[in-house]
Amino acid sequence: MRGPHTAGHQRDDAGAAGDRIAGYFAVILPLLFVPAHLVTALASWNPVAWPPLLFETMAAFIACASSAWRASRSRGRARQGWLAVAAAMLCWMAGVGCQFLGSLTPAGTSGSGALSMLLFVLYGVPLTFVLASPGGDPWRARLVDGALALVLGALFGAFIFSFVALAGADEAGAMTLAWTFDIQNAFIAVFALVRFRASSIERERLLFGILTAYALVYMAVAGFYNHFVDDGTLGVLASPLVGMPFVLLAALALRDIRLASVPRRGRMFERVVVTGSPLILPIALLIVSAALVPRMPALAIAGCVAATLGYGLRAVLVQLHGLGERDQLAQLSQIDALTGLPNRRQFDEALRRELTRARRSGQGLALLMIDVDHFKLLNDTLGHRVGDERLRDIAATLQDCATRATDVVARYGGEEFVAILPGASPTEALMVAETMRATIEELDLASPAPDGRVTVSIGAARISDIETDTEHRLVERADRALYDSKRAGRNRVTAAWPVEEPPRALLG
Ligand code: GH3
Ligand code: MG
Ligand code: MG
Repeated sequence: MRGPHTAGHQRDDAGAAGDRIAGYFAVILPLLFVPAHLVTALASWNPVAWPPLLFETMAAFIACASSAWRASRSRGRARQGWLAVAAAMLCWMAGVGCQFLGSLTPAGTSGSGALSMLLFVLYGVPLTFVLASPGGDPWRARLVDGALALVLGALFGAFIFSFVALAGADEAGAMTLAWTFDIQNAFIAVFALVRFRASSIERERLLFGILTAYALVYMAVAGFYNHFVDDGTLGVLASPLVGMPFVLLAALALRDIRLASVPRRGRMFERVVVTGSPLILPIALLIVSAALVPRMPALAIAGCVAATLGYGLRAVLVQLHGLGERDQLAQLSQIDALTGLPNRRQFDEALRRELTRARRSGQGLALLMIDVDHFKLLNDTLGHRVGDERLRDIAATLQDCATRATDVVARYGGEEFVAILPGASPTEALMVAETMRATIEELDLASPAPDGRVTVSIGAARISDIETDTEHRLVERADRALYDSKRAGRNRVTAAWPVEEPPRALLG
């Protein structure tokens, strides 16, 4: 068999094969990589010698590549999330890569320490962005989130460099640095967990679930490394330990994990988290700004201003988007999806409005009830798709026949249509009805009906007593007249009032 169907299958097969290979890789990778890293570290007996550092760089690279691969296999928000994770891994890889390059040159001659510190700070920016920027928001709001995440990274960097000299930190500085990174890591782990718990979309849950596992292990390893590792035996084991969260992330990203579907009972929690997560960025920015107050007051003020304005701006953008969507939905809720005509709801409103207007102006109002003849037979014989096509053609024709600006043609339901003709005299109403009937007959649309073509039957009614007549009674009279048309043999117009002459079609 040929054609797009087969091509789709081939692509699926290729995708499944790719998943299988990645799945094997996810198992083999930790089994090979971690022992090799350990052996290299033990052989070097120096955690900052180039071989263990090379392994750390490779671990981050593998995590980066695996996240990018997962991004290529994902769609929508999950894809963006995985790309951001890959960007974070890239920063970390570059950071440790600088240390690796530094280890190749004689001590003290390279400025790689400061650069790698900067890259480690930058590593948190895409991760914070993923956690704080809900995917469903308009792209302009997400742009503001991105800018806030960058400002946060910059201020966080300024904060760190305010007590870490290029040559390294003193004892107290090192302690503050360790605690600062602990807070950053805990922050990422906790919010990843919250987003995981709150998400009901499988791909998003998978992203946040893996991110949670990674961030928890990273937090533990970094805390251990920053607080407890000295130059003794533990120091030698530090490098393989540091590589571990990255290998874990890679293995989890490569596996084709299926999460059990979650019940929708947590919807409220999900909504609160999604609407509340954009607060993470300004709050983090305010915290970092507060920490900057004693050392860099001007930057601290800038941070507070950025947090306030950024959050305000994103709120305005989200609200604008919401209002636009609301209008669109309101419009959609009034339109019949198949024919594009006003639907029953809009018809009900229009009839009520026009009746009130007719009462005020004292002018008449006519209502036409239009039903397609033998439509069930057409559906059963030619299929529903052809039936739908016929309905669209009929709808467009009826609309064309109602020429006054105030006329309303709507789909009443199924294969029934209605036309409100405000201010139409009895003769005018019958002329419009007859024009509709005749034009549809002339379309000569094939049908299994006895006539061999599509025809409609029409019932026409007018408000009789302007003071007391109701929408309900008007519709009822038009319906009865329509029924009379059907009984009299279909493909005809019947008026609900006494008529002397048969109606004439309008000549267009
Ligand atoms: P009559 O001449 O007495 O009006 O006969 P009829 O077959 O038209 O009457 P009936 O009301 O029994 O059939 C209406 C049919 O319209 C039944 C239903 O399958 C079909 N129908 C209703 N809505 C749609 C739609 O949106 N698309 C299609 N294709 N068919 C529809
Ligand atoms: Mg019907
Ligand atoms: Mg019908």
